[in-house]
Amino acid sequence: MPVTTRFAPSPTGHLHIGGARTALYNWALARDDGRFLLRVEDTDAARSSEEAAAGILEDLLWLGIVWSEGPVAEGAGGDPREIGPFRQAERLSLYRKAVDRLIAEGRAYPAFETPEELDALRRQAREEKRNFRYRCAADFDRDAALARAASEPHVVRFRMPETPLRVVDEILGEIEFGEEHLDDFVIWKRDGFPTYHLAVVVDDEAMGITHVLRGQEHLNNTPRHAALQEALGYRAPVYAHLPVIFNADGSKMSKRDKDKAARAAVRQALKEDSARKADFEALVPEATAPKGLDGWLKDKRSQLPTDLLDGLALDLGLALPCIEVEDFRRAGFLPDVLCNYLALLGWSPGEKDDEGKDLERFDRAFLQARFALDRVGVSNARFDMDKLLAFNQQTIAEQDDADFLAAWRDWASRYAVADAARDSDWLTRFAAMIRSRCRTLADVSRRDGPGGFAWVDDDAYAFDAKAVEKWLRKGEPDGFTRLEAAGAALATLEDWASEAIEARMETLAEELGVGLGKLAQPLRVAVTGSASSPPLGDTLAALGPEAVARRIARCLAECR
Ligand code: GLU
Repeated sequence: MPVTTRFAPSPTGHLHIGGARTALYNWALARDDGRFLLRVEDTDAARSSEEAAAGILEDLLWLGIVWSEGPVAEGAGGDPREIGPFRQAERLSLYRKAVDRLIAEGRAYPAFETPEELDALRRQAREEKRNFRYRCAADFDRDAALARAASEPHVVRFRMPETPLRVVDEILGEIEFGEEHLDDFVIWKRDGFPTYHLAVVVDDEAMGITHVLRGQEHLNNTPRHAALQEALGYRAPVYAHLPVIFNADGSKMSKRDKDKAARAAVRQALKEDSARKADFEALVPEATAPKGLDGWLKDKRSQLPTDLLDGLALDLGLALPCIEVEDFRRAGFLPDVLCNYLALLGWSPGEKDDEGKDLERFDRAFLQARFALDRVGVSNARFDMDKLLAFNQQTIAEQDDADFLAAWRDWASRYAVADAARDSDWLTRFAAMIRSRCRTLADVSRRDGPGGFAWVDDDAYAFDAKAVEKWLRKGEPDGFTRLEAAGAALATLEDWASEAIEARMETLAEELGVGLGKLAQPLRVAVTGSASSPPLGDTLAALGPEAVARRIARCLAECR
């Protein structure tokens, strides 16, 4: 039986970075000769959306994580074995059959407590300082319950075994779940949908899944799944629960981190200027759960919808932490680099590179060839943003100019459409010039990035006061004088290429009897506003003669 794995996202939001790692490991474990399936778990109708499902598939494809069977998308999917459809909402009859069988065999039963009644039972358990566990009443009358179920709203609960359950996990070993974990959980909801537990077990069987790799947050679900498999006479797949991904500060990496960062920034902004409250309130209307801006500020666990968070971040000039694949995409990471880094969050190849260090940089083919569960770690993985940035920067440095530009264009087609519309020859030259200074694709046209000077209008950049003081105002004659001389020399320069510009400035420095720095720095400050930029010839070449002339004139007018 070929190894058959699956990634089974619930389409309730963007693809989380931990989900991407789960997908990547499942993909790698299946290798070329196995099968890697994609299944959309959308039985939670209220929280699932078509848009989220499409976004998740798109992010997976962007990462190069391609499924052999699953929803059909460009370059992925298909249903050769007729085991689909791959959306659980379209598989309800299968789940219904399973639940009917369990009821008929006495392994499941209808239950009629309303949500309010269950809340009261939970409260009572809390007051009595015990865990609430739903168990079938000792005097449960099956026939009466079945008769009642024909006309009354109800859920269906699975009759969980009373004895402790053992689960074998490929990574964590054998784990025993005592009675406190075992209750008669719901497998069919009032809304006519199965719960996740039932659907996942039915589908893993129907789709021939041999290995289930998923996050450790699902570990407590596994005894339930094992008991359901036993009751339905299914074989049990191999389970492997992956380590949780933590932030550098030891907190769990979660979408809440974005709220946390935005909340802190809003608080700080209000401390500095309480009048901004109205702006923020406009961005987070009163109707937004939980109770508008104030409710969100007060309730540390509350979360705003992504678009509102993005709006706040924009208003605050704040970069939200990267948590979801989309965040990393927007930040300008290369998909291959992200996959490489994700692979290391819980797994390592255990090989040395040419310098005798742990081999850490590899491509997807390498991962697919080497990946095995015995090298997946037990302990939490720590996300190191600096390391990811270093990987990205190294890869960019190793790319050739054409690949880099192509990657940037791909990025810009989503995140910087107007920037990508600039003259193609100019972009080719600019990208080649700036590549070695970029850590991410976003750096290419980031206004405060290494090449930002070339993207802001001639009258829109600010002059760094310290740099103006040091390079333009000081000295006798001062830097402005040399700047004027440079402007005059450049005005007559015919060949506006980097080398020619450099050569002309060198001659001029000699003519003026000063070192090149005394000429180059005033010029650099004048045309970029700052004392650091790419080499002077490149900087001026990127701007072009007209912009350089305008910028020199503006500097003389505004700073002198
Ligand atoms: N749909 C589940 C989730 O998104 C995955 C369940 C599983 O892998 O078993 O967390």
